[in-house]
Amino acid sequence: MRLGTLLTTALLSATLATSSLVATPSYAAAAGKEPRAFKDKVVIGHSVQGRPITAWHRGETGGPKVLLIATMHGNEGAPRTILRTLRSGRQIHGINLWVVPVYNPDGYAAHTRKNAHGVDLNRNFSYHWADLDGGYESGPRAGSEPETRAMMRFLRKIRPDRIISFHQPLNGVDTDTKNQRFSVRVARALHLQRKAFTCGGVCHGTMTGWFNHHFRGSALTAEYPAHPGRRRMAVIAPRQVLSIWGATRGKG
Ligand SMILES: [Zn+2]
Repeated sequence: MRLGTLLTTALLSATLATSSLVATPSYAAAAGKEPRAFKDKVVIGHSVQGRPITAWHRGETGGPKVLLIATMHGNEGAPRTILRTLRSGRQIHGINLWVVPVYNPDGYAAHTRKNAHGVDLNRNFSYHWADLDGGYESGPRAGSEPETRAMMRFLRKIRPDRIISFHQPLNGVDTDTKNQRFSVRVARALHLQRKAFTCGGVCHGTMTGWFNHHFRGSALTAEYPAHPGRRRMAVIAPRQVLSIWGATRGKG
């Protein structure tokens, strides 16, 4: 294990350990334990070119643990605005929320789908990994990319109940997934159609496939169109996302 990895892991552990102690919400709990609010920022790892991959922790204890990921493909950046809206502003209630607005920061900087090694991160995970070339270049081996390893570590650490991975431009929510009820709820809430994203055959090495196979929780891909519109991303979709879990924003 490299020193950088050790430091990152130590930082993550320390931050996660203290994150539930950070803030005291100004409202009374309905019953039993009072929820505690989160307002933390964690660097979960670094890209090939050394850019930080940052996760923000929002919401409060007690609600379902949800992770939202955007910009896994660097040229699909519009949905990151949903996550940026959710990480800022008023306190969120009823959900234990993590957001990673820019999972592939090198690709985002270069406006490319892939990372700086030319690897499609959504083909680099170890579940059903295959040696793919061209548009879906899967890397020299499963988990070869630092971005992939960072997300695997992070997911093992926080173990979300639900993950939504936002992409473009296929304009739909995946039906070829582990939890159909979750797929239906997300599609209705986000006003997206339900579609089978078959990856042109078998999906090899995807993040959602890896998570769904190894964890109890459910991960789902949601694709917006190529040009979803600024207001939809900044104002409408953040509310729609919270509505999936009945979560709300407070005054403070
Ligand atoms: Zn994508």
